[in-house]
Amino acid sequence: MKLSVIVPVFNEESVLPQLRTRLEPAVQQCTPDYEVLFINDGSTDGTLALLKTWAENDKRIKIVSLSRNFGKEAALTAGLAAATGDGVAVLDADLQDPPEILPQLWEKFQQGFDNIYGVRKDRTADSFFKRISAGTFYKVYNRLADSPIPYNAGDCRLLSRRAVEAVLALPERERFMKGLFSWAGFKSIGVPFVRESRGAGHTKWNYWKLWNFALNGLTASTTLPLKLWTYFGLFVSCGAFGYAGWAAYKKIVFGNPVSGWTSLMVAILFFSGVQLITLGVIGEYLSRIFNEVKQRPTYWIDEKINL
Ligand code: UDP
Ligand code: MG
Repeated sequence: MKLSVIVPVFNEESVLPQLRTRLEPAVQQCTPDYEVLFINDGSTDGTLALLKTWAENDKRIKIVSLSRNFGKEAALTAGLAAATGDGVAVLDADLQDPPEILPQLWEKFQQGFDNIYGVRKDRTADSFFKRISAGTFYKVYNRLADSPIPYNAGDCRLLSRRAVEAVLALPERERFMKGLFSWAGFKSIGVPFVRESRGAGHTKWNYWKLWNFALNGLTASTTLPLKLWTYFGLFVSCGAFGYAGWAAYKKIVFGNPVSGWTSLMVAILFFSGVQLITLGVIGEYLSRIFNEVKQRPTYWIDEKINL
């Protein structure tokens, strides 16, 4: 059986030599029949040139080079579409997903699992804030989404051919891959690993990007935030009815010296806020619907090498 390893790369020239020395033995330990697919996600450094020299000497190293930077999710999608293996593994280029995990994933694959995902044993490599925010995200996501994602699982995994086909069958542009992987279902199992810190180079993420990534993931997997406001509105209306009754009673029984400025102000400010939030939530979904109906391709390929 053939193994494909997909590695998305965006300006990773400094870490690639280390990656190759660790990846090759790991892959060979699995099977001699393999391919390593580098998805060049619009790198502006020497990444592509370096990959090309490798691909020239080794036909099992393949390159899909995208026309610009489309983001990791798009790069992974391009990789899944180009991979030909019976089992398809996904690995970060920066050695945070240690290549040595591949033989373990491959073993589970041969035992008949379709979706074998790496689970971080500890997140000590991450900052305190990142750990807290990631933990909260997983909790909220799994409460709301139709298909929960395993706690502390990343993109690092091995998929069987049929799981790959399932993920590729999903036409959406907003590609939150972790969510799509778990949507596919099939026989899944986690393999614990220690996520190391980056081999070299630096991360392409910042908190603003991560926040938007989380938002994309949530809105792609659940419409609950949209529906929530209906219930909130109902609840508030009931309260308002009660309050109206009480106010009318007070007026009839006690007459009405003008008062209530504070309660009026509070109510106006509160509900203006609620309405703006509601509009914002609708806007989030609307913008995503807009992106979907445009039907743009998720990525565009500049060139393919050894494919
Ligand atoms: N990556 C990519 N396109 C991007 C950003 C990142 O292909 O726009 C790749 C990157 O080269 C690496 C992987 O995705 O192989 C993970 O990126 P990074 O290490 O920056 O993310 P982190 O591990 O900090 O979450
Ligand atoms: Mg990384």
